[in-house]
Amino acid sequence: MFDFEIHSPEEEIHLPILKDNNVRLFIKRDDLIHPFISGNKWRKLKYNLIEAEKQGKKHLVSFGGAYSNHILALAAAGAKFGFKTTGFIRGEEIYNPMLSLCKIFGMSLCFVNREAYKHKIKLYNDIFTEETDTYFIDEGGAGKLAEKGCREIIKELKRAYNYIFCAAGTGTTASGIINEIALKNLETEINIVCVLKGYESISEDINLLLDKPYRYNILHDYHFGGYAKTKPKLIEFIQYVSKHTGMLTDPIYTGKTLFAIIDQVKQGKIKPNSKIIMIHTGGVFGILGMLDKFNKKGS
Ligand SMILES: *Cc1c(COP(=O)(O)O)cnc(C)c1O
Repeated sequence: MFDFEIHSPEEEIHLPILKDNNVRLFIKRDDLIHPFISGNKWRKLKYNLIEAEKQGKKHLVSFGGAYSNHILALAAAGAKFGFKTTGFIRGEEIYNPMLSLCKIFGMSLCFVNREAYKHKIKLYNDIFTEETDTYFIDEGGAGKLAEKGCREIIKELKRAYNYIFCAAGTGTTASGIINEIALKNLETEINIVCVLKGYESISEDINLLLDKPYRYNILHDYHFGGYAKTKPKLIEFIQYVSKHTGMLTDPIYTGKTLFAIIDQVKQGKIKPNSKIIMIHTGGVFGILGMLDKFNKKGS
């Protein structure tokens, strides 16, 4: 039931800088899996949904910020597969296009202040003590079941690549990718682009989910000021890439990842004649929270 036929091709994109440096860049289009259950959020939800069904649970409950790709994916997946959904949203009650979409998909929204939000499990337990049909999914869909789903990104690859690049928030997606590459003994060099500022311990969190120690790089220089922060240079870059490829990237995760790839190419860090694969982890609705940045005069 949860194996709906997904479409995530490996598409090459063409930009002069790639050609000049004699490298080829392919994008694993997980953003095309579903308009709302997009990218790595589907990967991370899949085995959670399977588990919920196995346990006979009918109501999925999770947590996120007001522009959470995970919450939107959960709302749409719940609607598609017949679960009730509740989303605890951090902060004061507000309405934005993301949350309106969640409501259209039938999700109940529950706004909680930042202090209460810190104690998620307690909040969940307090509200749902009497209920037996609820299933808790952690913020962003983190955890071992999520990691398992992310391995499938690598299982599906049709070509061999010299380099792989993927964005990381919690690093769960990264850990699934690393585990599968290690298992298959691929020679692909792994580059994880951390989108948070000063999250030096992300490698410890990734390592907790690894089957065995394995070599990978974390790039810490492409956060553009921090999570959900941006700079005009990034906005311009996203606009440039969209215009030249027809593919959208978001300012929070995938735009930063693609920027990192191009920057590494410019710096000569990528060997000539190599093939790169970037995992497009979806989340293009992140743009909706930053439309004003794209509407500046003259651009
Ligand atoms: C949530 C998200 C990520 C981060 O995934 P982690 O598994 O938390 O590292 C990356 N890209 C997009 C588009 C996301 O929505």
